[in-house]
Amino acid sequence: MFQRIAAVLLFCGLILSPAYPAAVDEGMYPISEIMKLDLRSKGLEIDPAEIYSTDRSLIFAIVGVGATGSFVSPDGLFVTNHHVAFGAVQAASTRENDYIRDGFLARTRAEEIQAKGMTARITESFRDVSAEVLSSVLPGMDFAARTKAIEKRTKEIVAQTEKDNPGKRAEVSEMFTGKTYILFIYTYLKDIRMVYVPPRSIGEFGGEEDNWMWPRHTGDFSFLRAYVAPDGSPADYSPQNVPFKPKRFLRIQPRGVDEGDFVFLLGYPGRTYRHSAASFLAFEEEVRMPYVVDWYARQIDLMEKMGAGDRGVALLHASRIKGLANTMKNYRGKLKGMKRLGLVERRREDEKALQRFIEADLERRERYGTILTDIAAVYDDNRASFGSEAILGYLGSSVNLLGLASTVHEAGIERPKPDLEREPAYMDRNFPRVRQRLMLGLRNHYEPTDKAVFRELILKASKLPEASRIKPLDEALGGDFSETAIGGYLNKMYAGTRLNDSRFVEKLLEMTPGELAKVEDPFLDLARALYPDVLELREKQKARRGALDPLYARLSDVKELFLGKGFIPDANGTLRLTYGRIKGYEPVDAVDYSPITTLRGVIEKTTGREPFDTPPALAELFEKRDFGAFEHPRLRDVPVCILYDTDTTGGNSGSPVINARGELIGINFDRTYEATINDYAWSEEYSRSIAVDIRYVLWVTQKFGRADFLLKELGL
Ligand code: GLU
Repeated sequence: MFQRIAAVLLFCGLILSPAYPAAVDEGMYPISEIMKLDLRSKGLEIDPAEIYSTDRSLIFAIVGVGATGSFVSPDGLFVTNHHVAFGAVQAASTRENDYIRDGFLARTRAEEIQAKGMTARITESFRDVSAEVLSSVLPGMDFAARTKAIEKRTKEIVAQTEKDNPGKRAEVSEMFTGKTYILFIYTYLKDIRMVYVPPRSIGEFGGEEDNWMWPRHTGDFSFLRAYVAPDGSPADYSPQNVPFKPKRFLRIQPRGVDEGDFVFLLGYPGRTYRHSAASFLAFEEEVRMPYVVDWYARQIDLMEKMGAGDRGVALLHASRIKGLANTMKNYRGKLKGMKRLGLVERRREDEKALQRFIEADLERRERYGTILTDIAAVYDDNRASFGSEAILGYLGSSVNLLGLASTVHEAGIERPKPDLEREPAYMDRNFPRVRQRLMLGLRNHYEPTDKAVFRELILKASKLPEASRIKPLDEALGGDFSETAIGGYLNKMYAGTRLNDSRFVEKLLEMTPGELAKVEDPFLDLARALYPDVLELREKQKARRGALDPLYARLSDVKELFLGKGFIPDANGTLRLTYGRIKGYEPVDAVDYSPITTLRGVIEKTTGREPFDTPPALAELFEKRDFGAFEHPRLRDVPVCILYDTDTTGGNSGSPVINARGELIGINFDRTYEATINDYAWSEEYSRSIAVDIRYVLWVTQKFGRADFLLKELGL
């Protein structure tokens, strides 16, 4: 429950307000738009219908794996980023078999190991259900009721679709806020296995220091394989399963690309907030992002200290630290970019012009006159309660045992309800995954860290003003927030709990509400005490969303009138296409970045110490200039990373970078520091995405990994 609340609150909730849509010259195009784009004139050499039209289209080679991947063989082999597979690699690693440090290679299919927690989804079809969804909104409904009505109708559509399409998953995605809703049908593959993962010193070369930066020299790729039941249907892991046969896989172009070449990407970009109201941007810049940066920095610091002397402990924290550090640096880049561009001020100027247009016509003034101030009022309310809402959210998402207790407690309340009436996480279609994630999370639990994180949040809560106190915490501590009192409280909590025992948690998840109510555990008790606050917060979030959705829908209407052009919807985790060219840029005055890095750069950066600890075997191959078939004819070296001006965001990790002939030439994994601001405002001037060049992927796999058999499977 709490994890979800935190996610909703801290990411969507505050931003639940999805902004209004992106202008057409930017470019994360829904697949429904592909055929309307004149891609041939931009440089595409194949028929655009090959990308999306028939059953054999390129889109069937694309998988959603949290981020993105693409099939590269008829036997379910797919490629994505090292950082996308990282959580699964961590879950499979122990002190003895440290696949993060050493990498992993399965020489036979039998040696492939389970990539725990990973699934792969393939978009099968889609259809507009806006009218059906919006017909659930009745005149006079209050804001929270509006949100609930839409949620309910959406669940009904999903349930009916899944009933009509056995074995498939349905999702309704909001495209234009408050206006358009598309029903997507997906195939979900659940048995994913690791095939080849390079060591971290290649896959994450440069680490956090180089993250979100150019020039880049990271071999951020991994090969995995999707399996299905012998009859071809999606199934959980089983040794009897067989490799999945995709309808389409991507051919690889081992000669790669060069500067100026046309490229396009397919993938599942997560979230963008283009054209969002200035009041939202100001809230992000002044309140939310600085808070998150501080909190993440603090947690990373705690975890790094805990793992400093013990590799086992460091491994437990590896994935979490990586995720926090990634977001933290992204936000720092965004904050810097917002200042550099004066983004809030620019947006305010745009809004002033829009407001003048609205005021110029009586009818328009009546219809749209107060939209911008009404939107701003919602964010003002958000600002006022941000402190306590953030802490309440983080108590569940950052403190393992409290998050666990909250989910167990809420499962006891939600699971007995009829399926369609439950909160989404507890519905039959979702609960097994929630449960699996919970149990995987518990494997990484390390008490001293959990305690230290909890302590920080209690200290934060102790400073909240009287009007927004988190009462159950005040009561638990008896109002005494001294070091000794907090220490004593935490010692009691952790000494008295059994939630760190996975068998016990499994048992709790099977209990009836009556049985569960009798279980005494300090974390469960605290979760119970906090539950009313959580429900109140959820209601507030729904009300905010109910207020913002129709406002944003009208804002996009009037903006369309004003600008006289249509829009494409913001990224929302659905399949998109973006195109551009291999191209450098000028990040600051007198600095000119060229768009291809090479192996020489890897060696130049190598210090022997993490994160620049190139494996000696790789350095030797460079010394011997053993570049095989992958040498760039002009650069006389193996290309490592490439830069291009497409429109991407988080979720495009692992997206295939495809050339004009529809062949795979790179795997997208990042953006430049200046481009972190993309999510709010894209510009050809500073927006650049980064991929690992396919030549480096193939060279590492063949020469360093000695996995010729994989190249054979790729048809090379
Ligand atoms: N490296 C990015 C991330 O991990 C993914 C791609 C992007 O955001 O551009 O979030």
